[in-house]
Amino acid sequence: MSTGLDASEPQVLRIRYGDEVISVEVRQQPGRSQERLSIHVEPDGRVLVDAPLGVEVGRLLDSVKRRARWISQQLEGFRIQRAHASPHEYVSGESMLYLGRRYRLKVQIDPTAKPVARMHGAFIEVTLPERDPAMVAAALMSWYRQRAREVFSQRLPVVAEPLRWVRELPSIRLQFMKLQWGSCSPSGRITLNPWLVRAPREAIDYVLLHEMCHLRHHNHSRAFYASLSRHMPDWKQIKTRLDSRAEEFLRIEVDRVG
Ligand SMILES: [Zn+2]
Repeated sequence: MSTGLDASEPQVLRIRYGDEVISVEVRQQPGRSQERLSIHVEPDGRVLVDAPLGVEVGRLLDSVKRRARWISQQLEGFRIQRAHASPHEYVSGESMLYLGRRYRLKVQIDPTAKPVARMHGAFIEVTLPERDPAMVAAALMSWYRQRAREVFSQRLPVVAEPLRWVRELPSIRLQFMKLQWGSCSPSGRITLNPWLVRAPREAIDYVLLHEMCHLRHHNHSRAFYASLSRHMPDWKQIKTRLDSRAEEFLRIEVDRVG
């Protein structure tokens, strides 16, 4: 049985690093010396490995795994750059996400009003005393935070209900983060990113379940993934859909405006 890669078609390998699955495209180059593998991370998020023709899969995987931390850091850096590349302008008509659906931003000026955002039909309306993008961004952030608080506390008991190791609902702390949906501390405190409320409910449930599985397994062991799969058999597809839209959902609002 050959362990060499078929040179006739492009090959994609997937490796797991923490919570991430990194897809790597292998480009086999006939003239390349047998010793050399080189790994590139492209600004659009593609990971490429240049390898000699007929390279062994095991050797490729080892070499990619050894660089996984570096690859993951590069990917995160480019993700942030791309998020900054298509910023909101905070003007009427812009698209805003909430629970996976698109709403239109409507900015209204009322000199007597305090800055406030609210949902009205297909619109998220922001009322302000004067035209000021930073004020729109701040009003939106506090609206998203409120919505997140409400949605997460509605979903938490539903997701926790079948988990027999969760005797008492964990308390949830909200924190705007650039790269993470959530985390669970060794002492069992769960932190969630309010931007997650931009994502569909299934993704919110997945993150809640993921963090509550950490109350039982404080790692990403087989047992952890077994618990996850038992309670959400299709979590991988949900996670892939969520991560594929991470740029959009984790768009950083204040850095740019402030
Ligand atoms: Zn985790």
